Amino acid sequence: MSRKFNFSAGPAMLPEEVLQQVQAELLDWNSSGMSVMEMPHRGDFFEGIANQAEQDLRELLKIPSNYKVLFLQGGGRTQFAMVPMNLAKEAECVAYSNTGTWSQFAIEEAKRYNTVHIAIDSEGNNYTNLPDKSEWNIPDNAAYLHYTDNETIQGLEFSQAPDSRGIPLISDMSSNLLSKPLEINQYGLIYACAQKNLGPSGITMVIIRDDLLAREPIVSTPSMLRYKIHAENNSLYNTPACFAWYVCGLVFKWVKNQGGVEEMARRAKARTDELYHYIDASGFYNNPVNSAHRSKMNVVFTLKDEKLDGTFLKNAEKAGLMNLKGHRSVGGMRASLYNSMPKAGVAALLQFMREFAAQHG
Ligand SMILES: *Cc1c(COP(=O)(O)O)cnc(C)c1O
Repeated sequence: MSRKFNFSAGPAMLPEEVLQQVQAELLDWNSSGMSVMEMPHRGDFFEGIANQAEQDLRELLKIPSNYKVLFLQGGGRTQFAMVPMNLAKEAECVAYSNTGTWSQFAIEEAKRYNTVHIAIDSEGNNYTNLPDKSEWNIPDNAAYLHYTDNETIQGLEFSQAPDSRGIPLISDMSSNLLSKPLEINQYGLIYACAQKNLGPSGITMVIIRDDLLAREPIVSTPSMLRYKIHAENNSLYNTPACFAWYVCGLVFKWVKNQGGVEEMARRAKARTDELYHYIDASGFYNNPVNSAHRSKMNVVFTLKDEKLDGTFLKNAEKAGLMNLKGHRSVGGMRASLYNSMPKAGVAALLQFMREFAAQHG
């Protein structure tokens, strides 16, 4: 068996130890005589798995007791609808940041229900920078401020939570939850689909403050899209993504064993510092993002001549470096370096980039 270094933005690499544990337990979980895939979701075995996963996530992020943690389905995109449907009245003003492609998808969805006000806008700099705080414009009457903590496609990341001036702050952390410590009290709601930094696809974590659970959803909101119903049913209102939930639980344990989110942040900084430093000094590669706001998860870069893109990707694959192609909307390359990316993966990528630049520069 030879595992490759996978730089995919998502579904992304998982820790090898986690995959091995899944393999070892696949037919018989903990002497239950069953696979996790075969267990009733309301039985004792699965309940134990589910509760342990929640408890570990709570510990990792120091989630206070006035927040519920939900394990839902439908990915990040379903949250784009659930947030406006549950947290604002029909046509009410809601504030959004527009800092990249994922913000824009969230905005488009919110427009179906609410009046969207753009509060933080990166359009003017082509999504390569976050505007200065003095340029933010957050209306006092907005039901909430939604922002994308890490723009997975543009490689642009907030280094701290924006000050929403008392308005509930909603954060899409689909591509960076568990990559750094958070001050959960600063947020009203955080959501993240799993397949980037947390586990396999099919499950989405929502951390929601109790007072927001009490908000009345838009009347036509289906039961499946109501936070309150999921909270009242401990995320077992319908059959959850049991297997994905279990694998996320193993990833949470792995993060704890590695030293928690502080250690994940340290590693992410080390990985990306090295890569950005090389890119900037290379004269061959380029990253357009303001260095103060570069993502510690998704490193985007272009080559000096885009005609070389195909060769770069083909040779990278030959070297065991997979899925480096940038998102189709921005082109170029993207190396996604989530928690599970080993140091050796970054070293192999750097070596390849150096050699490629030397050959083609
Ligand atoms: C991937 C991603 C999403 C969408 O997630 P799906 O699970 O595919 O719906 C939303 N927001 C961000 C920031 C993402 O990176």
